[in-house]
Amino acid sequence: GRGRPDRVVTTTCPFCGVGCNFDLHVKDDRVVRVASNPAAPVNGMSLCVKGRYGFDFVHHPDRLTRPRVRRYLLAGVEKRSATLAEREWVETDWDTALNLVAAKLVAVRRAAGPDAVGFIGSALCTNEENYLVQKLARQVIGTHNVENCARLCHAPTVAGLSMAFGSGAMSNSMDDVAEQAQAFLVIGENVTECHPVFGTRLRQAVLRRGVPLVVADPRTTDITEFAAVHLRHRPGTDVALLNGLMHVVLEHGWHDRRYIEERCEGFEEFRAAVERYTPEAVGVLTGVPAADLRRAAELLARNRPMAAVWGVGVTQHTTGVLNVLALANLQMLLGNMGVPGGGANALRGQNSVQGACDMGALFNLFPGYQPVTSPAALAKFDAAWALDPPAPRAGGTPSLGLSDRPGRTLTEIVDAFGPGDLRALFVMGENLALTNPDLNHTRGCLAAGEFLVLQEIFPTATAEFADVLLPGAAFAEKAGTFTNTERRVQLIRPAVPPPGEARPDWAVLADLARRTLAADGRAPVGPHAGWAYRDPAQIMDEVAAVAPLFAGISHARLERGDRLQWPVPSPDHPGTPILHVGGFARGKGKFHAVEHAPAAELPDAEFPFVLTTGRVLQHYGSEMTRRAEALTAACPEPVVEVSPDDAARLGLTDGSAVRLRSRRGAVVSRAAVTDRVAPGCVFGNFHFPAAGNVNNVTTGVLDPTSKTPEFKACAVAVEPV
Ligand code: SF4
Repeated sequence: GRGRPDRVVTTTCPFCGVGCNFDLHVKDDRVVRVASNPAAPVNGMSLCVKGRYGFDFVHHPDRLTRPRVRRYLLAGVEKRSATLAEREWVETDWDTALNLVAAKLVAVRRAAGPDAVGFIGSALCTNEENYLVQKLARQVIGTHNVENCARLCHAPTVAGLSMAFGSGAMSNSMDDVAEQAQAFLVIGENVTECHPVFGTRLRQAVLRRGVPLVVADPRTTDITEFAAVHLRHRPGTDVALLNGLMHVVLEHGWHDRRYIEERCEGFEEFRAAVERYTPEAVGVLTGVPAADLRRAAELLARNRPMAAVWGVGVTQHTTGVLNVLALANLQMLLGNMGVPGGGANALRGQNSVQGACDMGALFNLFPGYQPVTSPAALAKFDAAWALDPPAPRAGGTPSLGLSDRPGRTLTEIVDAFGPGDLRALFVMGENLALTNPDLNHTRGCLAAGEFLVLQEIFPTATAEFADVLLPGAAFAEKAGTFTNTERRVQLIRPAVPPPGEARPDWAVLADLARRTLAADGRAPVGPHAGWAYRDPAQIMDEVAAVAPLFAGISHARLERGDRLQWPVPSPDHPGTPILHVGGFARGKGKFHAVEHAPAAELPDAEFPFVLTTGRVLQHYGSEMTRRAEALTAACPEPVVEVSPDDAARLGLTDGSAVRLRSRRGAVVSRAAVTDRVAPGCVFGNFHFPAAGNVNNVTTGVLDPTSKTPEFKACAVAVEPV
């Protein structure tokens, strides 16, 4: 397949939130190669193994090419009484599939109200598509039940940073962090494997500029090799660890008094709270030697600005929001916010999970973080998206009937589907059946649900539970934008046609919305109520019109080469590489007094190990990279890391079969005997199907504020098979 390409198309990587740009080489309508593009703003010539070799999933024979519906839907048979033969898929045309979905959505809405319908957007789809998913939910159906997978990862970051600073996004840019920071704190973030190109830049800063690096992680990862201090705290003790660091800072008077006085509030209460966290007391809770904690605090406090960098190791806990608040405290204490080389740098996982949130695929926020509880925001969207006749429901906004109360979160949507009162669920590109916690529970809900529509590129594990499958387009087959972890909005461009009859997701959503409105006998009348989009550029123009944060963003500017990080409040605004310069978004930065609380499930005699979970370098989510040949060859099966001490005691050897068992289920895997994990801890990943997926055992217990599950700590038994 190599040789001279027919065309070269510059686009954005579909995997992680670093948002590398590269060139797709296309021959005979197939992507044959990914090449570096020297003009790439984030990555220059660098690409990781996923970006460079992971593209062939686009042409995999598993791709969905025609809509499919279950035979019982065409035969008019009740789902519950359908035989196996009646449950089979039937390939059909778009008219049949979309008319069926539209009719069902209208029927459920009329019979049980708008909140009996739920929508899940996708962190892998474009901004424009996520905007349309939430518009479909809010305008056409009249519900705030719309979410995306951020609920499973960085929702605590959004909640915590909003409380502290007034904006929930990564504050700085990868460039200034890598080039201007004088110290790094990397906590709960396996940056080399999860954000590889940025991980390389951090490593280079350590090696070339001598920047001191403190890594806080229960696990030894590749980046810990470069750390001046590795704080290997027990899973679920981040607040204690961070309070301990701040205790030492305050004890030595290393905090930035003037900054705190001028720009922050709540300091005294916070100070009183960290008083008890002496390094010795923290050592008992975390397992970190007091001397290491003192040394780390000194390095971080004496070398400023210091950039705090974190991932879902911080957020996927029942204390996720508290952990983020503690990090916000640390950065205010040291005066590191609003300056290049400092900041609160939460690394978002998926290519456009930032964008899915920005566009309002969240149960409590309209596009651009306008709260659904705000009367002004409700009135604005009710007018912009107005329909005629108005919503029949009593209460709510006059035209759309939208409530001033938030909808349900992702985990609540799944819980209410099947056993609860949520009767229809529309999922775009989210693999609930492998990436939710406590999969036996999740699958039970999906199996019991009344009507599940899945818009996807593959027949994923979730497709097993779907009633209708709508074939979408992959990143290389459509136009639109992704927003990377540093709030940078970047174009993707169509390089090859979608396979068979598959269509870009934005086109499917617009078509479905038009049919649903028609089936409901309603017509768009508001200035942004229509669904006749020519292309994604026009959708972005609508986003700019309704969300002030993005008012100056357009595809035309991006095509011209403008490098835009939001907020971009006007068409002549250059974008905002660093947030909170000269003042916080909320006015004063707010310190919060936060206390250590243990993980929800601690080890005991029956389940004596702590399981923590994460990614491996070669894989991304749960379906795409497994269909990329080079990546699957490099990492063909799931592994569970076990420490050499524990392995010896349990009779496990490297490569032998091992079973993890929790109160919720079991996973069977190969053991990797390694001191990357501490004795008493095991580590597994979620990239593989069915019995090999670690989410069979993870817990669905939630952070009370953000409703994010505690993927990073649960109690398991470890057994040879
Ligand atoms: Fe893609 Fe992330 Fe790798 Fe860059 S670092 S090539 S964005 S997976």
